[in-house]
Amino acid sequence: MVLKPEPVFEAVEALREGPGSRVLLLTPQGVSFTHNLATALAGEGHLILLCGRYEGFDDRIRTLVDLEVSIGDYILMGGELPALVVLDAVVRLVPGVLGDASSAVQESFAGGLLDFPQFTRPPEYRGLDVPDVLLSGNHEAIRRWRRKEALRRTLTRRPDLLTAAALSEEDRILLKEVTREVQAETEGPARLGLPRESPR
Ligand code: SAM
Repeated sequence: MVLKPEPVFEAVEALREGPGSRVLLLTPQGVSFTHNLATALAGEGHLILLCGRYEGFDDRIRTLVDLEVSIGDYILMGGELPALVVLDAVVRLVPGVLGDASSAVQESFAGGLLDFPQFTRPPEYRGLDVPDVLLSGNHEAIRRWRRKEALRRTLTRRPDLLTAAALSEEDRILLKEVTREVQAETEGPARLGLPRESPR
């Protein structure tokens, strides 16, 4: 079954608020949904999200659409969940939605890197300690540790992000340190023929 054009054309015409309305089509054939796209969409005044179902929609619906968006290389039964994913990621970037606006700036992808590891109380739980530096009260040391750990996470889990990330001179120094540390961690067990520990 395929969604017919008439109700979709009529729905979009009824929903349009003027030339500022942007129509997005959720489809696995669209551009990949990313943080950068979410940021761009958060700056738009009015979004209309079109969801397919069944085998999809009559291809003439595409003439209504400003942008086709995919949330990943897999197939869902309908566009409703992709629309909610887009909605959630975009709305949290609209000023005033998050209680603390700086949260959106610090998150993974926002600065081109993955987020640093987060801890809360208690300082020790079942033998697992919060890193000493975070309990030190030394704000500069904490800032530097967080930046270094964000670089470590990105290097070990998503090295592809590092090529596009805007790195400062300090970041490059920290990245060199992290690269040496990660190499030492992997080379040690490899020399002994042991498997590498999985990242925490
Ligand atoms: N026949 C379509 C194709 O191969 O491109 C897939 C149809 S899918 C079963 C039904 C609807 O779910 C799509 O029209 C789209 O709205 C939505 N959908 C499924 N996977 C999606 C994804 N990865 N990203 C965005 N929308 C998706």
